[in-house]
Amino acid sequence: METSQLPSSLPTTNFAITEILNYIGDGLYAPQSGKWISNFHPASGAVYGKIAESGADDVQAAFECATNAFPAWSTSTAKSRSDLMLRLADLMDRDLEILAAIESYDNGKPLTVARNVDIPRAISNIRFFATAILHSSTEAHDMDGLALNYTLRQPIGVVACISPWNLPLYLFTWKIAPALAAGNTVIAKPSEITPASAFYFSKLCIEAGFPAGVLNVLHGTGPSVGSPLVSHAGIKAISFTGGTQTGAAIAAVAAPKFKKLSLELGGKNATLVFSDCNFEETVSETARAAFSNQGQICLCGSRILIQRSIYDQFKQAFVAKVKALKVGDPQAVDSNIGAIVSEPHLLKVLSYIELAKSEGGKLLSGGNRIYPEGFENGYYLEPTIFEGLDPFCRTNQEEIFGPVVTLIPFDTEEEALQFANCTPYGLASSVWTSNIGTAQRVASKLQTGIVWINCWMLRDLRTPFGGVKQSGVGREGGWEALRFFTEAKNVCIKS
Ligand code: NAD
Repeated sequence: METSQLPSSLPTTNFAITEILNYIGDGLYAPQSGKWISNFHPASGAVYGKIAESGADDVQAAFECATNAFPAWSTSTAKSRSDLMLRLADLMDRDLEILAAIESYDNGKPLTVARNVDIPRAISNIRFFATAILHSSTEAHDMDGLALNYTLRQPIGVVACISPWNLPLYLFTWKIAPALAAGNTVIAKPSEITPASAFYFSKLCIEAGFPAGVLNVLHGTGPSVGSPLVSHAGIKAISFTGGTQTGAAIAAVAAPKFKKLSLELGGKNATLVFSDCNFEETVSETARAAFSNQGQICLCGSRILIQRSIYDQFKQAFVAKVKALKVGDPQAVDSNIGAIVSEPHLLKVLSYIELAKSEGGKLLSGGNRIYPEGFENGYYLEPTIFEGLDPFCRTNQEEIFGPVVTLIPFDTEEEALQFANCTPYGLASSVWTSNIGTAQRVASKLQTGIVWINCWMLRDLRTPFGGVKQSGVGREGGWEALRFFTEAKNVCIKS
């Protein structure tokens, strides 16, 4: 698609970026193939820009730049890397409103969410790892006078960071920040569905004075650029966040080449509501956990398990709460729910709504695509609630990744745990109870990498983040991320 084909009615402000270029070495470049893909504006369904459809040639160019940058970057002082990253974070702070507008425009999420969650968190990611690296130190292992034994944590080399579309800059920075702070050079690939914030971020890196090749950002689809990136012989480690199937495909390529791999994958998270919960707070927070970001957060609680004694009361209050949510223009301050990220994803979520009906689900609210006035071609969906579905049916087993939840009654703690643990996924769960005994017993038995008690998505960047079963392999966050992006080298000097 050529730029000349762009619709003239769309705004060409600084947040509707019409051309997404690769950041390779010290500049922004068109793909070597000359191929482009269309960038859609989810709120209106219109094409508003073109994205570099990069390929193996661009991967090679980025790899050479990253390789050339590695010796100086990996031996620079932690303080100098930290200073540079903090300068970048200051520029992000300066442009917070622009970044938030870009993110909302490109992704369809409410501007208020981008402004209050995505961009502040992206800035925190940079600041957190820029300062964490100043506190890292070599571990010494006392050998009772026999030897001086210590373990160095050294940067790996050129690493790949691949991120999804749901929290674009938030997850992009979650990966590149520890990788860069630890002294690696990076080739990053944001999602082709939401590339704009990473492109603007590339410009900020240039403005901050990043040395050429330290960070390279390639745009394009999984097959065109993701695949050659992960299979490139020189890439030593891959940090991937995205779907479970993609994670499996990447693992199949990376494993025989002995690349280090961190996989943060899908989820089908359970929310466990016990009868002794703080009722009002639980209703309100479980609705937030279900529908934030249009239900497109890997941590969203999409299966709500409710103790039978309060099931009807909870259902009534939950449905009322959800019916009050306003779906519409992501730019409007009163929109609680914006647009779904893309038409294919909207159709996928709609197909799950049909599946839920065919599996015998009773629709309690929502279930339809909607066409807000002035945004008739946008990708909007009512927040949708089902009940009456077997915990083992496909609707309750497969990740939908949209604004669709099911309500499931349970009788005992054992049954709640059985239902919570019965999917192939194991990312996160939340438990709502005022009994600390229940809370800690259930937390210890939930098969998830993260358990929240009486809260949801209350994050601390120091904590290990990741899932079990098909939700991933490995942990990122805090020291875990810095460990992933370094190789341990043990040195033993005999006394
Ligand atoms: P996706 O797997 O389709 O794509 C993720 C990224 O991988 C994109 O940049 C894509 O272009 C790239 N990619 C696709 N095929 C590739 C290949 N063969 N080789 C290399 N790269 C390839 O996922 P998505 O649809 O963008 O994101 C949604 C998924 O991400 C959901 O399953 C969600 O649960 C998951 N997710 C997980 C976490 C977590 O922390 N566990 C966080 C956010 C999202």
